[in-house]
Amino acid sequence: MHGTYNIYFVFLSYVIAFIASYIALDLSLHLRKPSTRTFYVVWLINGAVVLGIGLWSLNFVGMLAYIMPIRMAYSLPWVGCSIVMAILVAALVFFLYSKKNPQVKDYLITGTALGITIPIITYMTIASLEDIKIQYRIGLFILSFITSVIGATLSLWCVVKSDKGSFSTRLRLKLESALIMGGTLTAIHYIGMYAAVFTPQEMEGEHLYLDPISLGISISAIVISIMLVSLVFSTDKYFLSQSLRNKSEFMETILNNMSGGVIACDAQGKITLFNRSAADLFGSLIKLKESLHELGTRFSFYKDLTNERLNLDETPLCRALNGEKISHLELNTYDSKGQKRSLLVEGQELRGGDDEKLGAVIVFNDISQAKLAEEDLKYRATHDVLTGLSNRMLLLDRLNQAIVRANRSGFNITIIFIDLDLFKIINDALGHSIGDKLLQTVAARIRALIRNSDTLARIGGDEFVIVIPDQINIDKIPLLLERILENISRPYQIEDHELNVTCSMGFSVFPDNGTDAETLLKNADAAMYQAKEKGRNTFQFYEGEMNTKVKKRLEIENGLRRALVNNEFILEYQPKLDIQTGKLVGFEALIRWKHPTQGLIPPNEFIPIAEDTGLIIPIGKWVLKTACEQNKAWQDAGIEPFCISVNLSARQSKERDLFATVKDILNETGLKPKYLELELTESLAMSNPKEFIELISQFREIGVKTSIDDFGTGYSSLNYLRQFPVNTLKIDQSFIAAIGSKKGDVSIVKAIVSLGHSLNMKIIAEGVETKEQLLLLQEHDCDEVQGYYVSPSLPVQEVPQFLKTNVKYKRRGRKKTEIKKDEV
Ligand code: C2E
Ligand code: CA
Ligand code: CA
Repeated sequence: MHGTYNIYFVFLSYVIAFIASYIALDLSLHLRKPSTRTFYVVWLINGAVVLGIGLWSLNFVGMLAYIMPIRMAYSLPWVGCSIVMAILVAALVFFLYSKKNPQVKDYLITGTALGITIPIITYMTIASLEDIKIQYRIGLFILSFITSVIGATLSLWCVVKSDKGSFSTRLRLKLESALIMGGTLTAIHYIGMYAAVFTPQEMEGEHLYLDPISLGISISAIVISIMLVSLVFSTDKYFLSQSLRNKSEFMETILNNMSGGVIACDAQGKITLFNRSAADLFGSLIKLKESLHELGTRFSFYKDLTNERLNLDETPLCRALNGEKISHLELNTYDSKGQKRSLLVEGQELRGGDDEKLGAVIVFNDISQAKLAEEDLKYRATHDVLTGLSNRMLLLDRLNQAIVRANRSGFNITIIFIDLDLFKIINDALGHSIGDKLLQTVAARIRALIRNSDTLARIGGDEFVIVIPDQINIDKIPLLLERILENISRPYQIEDHELNVTCSMGFSVFPDNGTDAETLLKNADAAMYQAKEKGRNTFQFYEGEMNTKVKKRLEIENGLRRALVNNEFILEYQPKLDIQTGKLVGFEALIRWKHPTQGLIPPNEFIPIAEDTGLIIPIGKWVLKTACEQNKAWQDAGIEPFCISVNLSARQSKERDLFATVKDILNETGLKPKYLELELTESLAMSNPKEFIELISQFREIGVKTSIDDFGTGYSSLNYLRQFPVNTLKIDQSFIAAIGSKKGDVSIVKAIVSLGHSLNMKIIAEGVETKEQLLLLQEHDCDEVQGYYVSPSLPVQEVPQFLKTNVKYKRRGRKKTEIKKDEV
């Protein structure tokens, strides 16, 4: 049976195929980037139904286009089945086409799956015809499937191709693709129709006869309307999502082009957003979805002025999250490259429309450059540009701060005013540039002598001021002034000039010489003028209400330097006796200072100062030389030879050439080494036992005797004591004084005696003042004795007299002896 084709219906079927193809493309593109899972499912179902109906109607209308010379009846179950089939195929289309980046294998799967299923819709639709026997031409039948495979593969390619460009480009691409795809679908259908051979059959039972024309028109009208409505929704949806996307892209662009950094977190404190500036600053240190706590472990914030590290809950984002509004907060941090950055931070909590807490955001600007500029300005305002020292303003500020602290703590502050002597002459003669360099060098030399906590300022051409805060005692100030004098007067090599310059200094002390900065400075300045008047290159302290302790120390120190030249030192000699026989064994030389105005100054008052200033070295040499000379003189005068003991201070024994000095002096004076004994303190011995042993051994070798003075006070390690090759241990006075008292304890003395004896050393007790002490010492086998009970130290001219009237002993038994003092 042959029929003819209604050309309008053929065209109609193509229109349906075209619209269906367009819908397939459009929806596939949406489904390729679904915003949510629900969106995907809803649109997949919606699309599948619309496209399914489209596919089915294309086939049905296409079939109606074929007018056969019989009345047509349709089987409803078959119609239903073919519609369901079409919907399933449509779902498959979307499922396969919505893949983001299809690979070759996806093209193959799509082609095969759709290639097989699409023609089935055609054949199921044809099968809904009743009363007609249908046979198929096998060639065309197969061709329909092949066309379908090619068409399906091509249309996936169309989907991928249409997914780019602006709205109009996409529209054009989609329309073009839909024209081709619609054509392919129509072609598949008509190939299928040609493949079928229709043979009318006997009619059986009741049938549903419908007029093909009106049926075709109504189905087409319904289906096209459904498809168009759906298209309108889809396009609307497209514009909506496009505008949202545009909006968020717009916002992102703004955020990323902001010079300030933005970091936001959600209500749980997890980072939800940061912009490019923030990323530039913190680099990989900042990560999305990370908690503030984790963030806090990677980078820290510091307080602006103190640079004190902030705790986590003090960091701006945490504070903002806790509801605080942060404005103008200056902070420091370190960026991903470890560079210090100063930030100006604003921040606040984020709340939604219903006042629900959404999180917090901070916005910060990098103000490092501004800060540096500010610091530079501040530096220039408070510093002397030439030397880099503080200027008067900063000096006053520091001094005022120090006064506040000192008022609380009760400590002292010293203000030293330094003025270079005759600097103007250098400046005028050699020019300012030389003068400037000289000032810079002077500044550096002074700086090197003071502590970091002290302030050194240049307050005028050649005027410097030092502020020394928080001092417990000011005894060491003269020593510092001494060092400044010494260092400034060292020659300067500036360009090709060798320059010499000295300075005059004055100082005042808080609170004695003033309780406010101005007064203290004024008084130090006045003192400096006095120093100038005294002939320059010296120092002077403010005479107003002077600190007597400092004054005394200063006088001693100034005096000590003259004392040697002016022969103000003398030696006195204190005898040492054999405790059992009372026979003289030697004298200890003890230094005295006959001060021209202060009378006799005891060694305890000036030896420590001499040690501090280093003057002990020349003084010590003088003592050694005088004592040796004197001893030789006594021997030459026919007095029975005895040993002379000389005290060595720790500083002296640290001098490299001590041994050589002693040898030279012995040579010079002609005294035999065995008549010289050196007294070294126990604390010195223990401060560097190895060195001490070496030194003692050297002396031992040439026959000079040694003893450890003040034994028992320096916590000797017995281990070392065994190795010290000394001849004598001198029990410290304090132990002797103790045994004199009622509750006196002789056990220490006993222990020292037996220890010394076991090491082959002699034991001498010093500071013996009473008969009881002497008796006890005798009883406990001490070897020698020294002290007021025997004799105080004697001026040199009284020694011969003492030798004549020496104490006498009366022996009583083997050990127990008694001493009888005559005229001493
Ligand atoms: P030192 O070496 O322990 O000298 C013993 C000190 O005790 C001497 O005091 C002496 O006068 C005093 N003294 C002697 N017998 C008695 C006594 O029975 N009772 C009391 N309470 N004291 C007694 P001086 O002469 O004032 O010397 C004090 C310290 O000065 C010496 O202690 C010594 O360390 C040091 N010294 C003295 N002359 C020199 C010296 O030429 N060079 C060095 N480097 N230091 C010296
Ligand atoms: Ca001594
Ligand atoms: Ca002593």
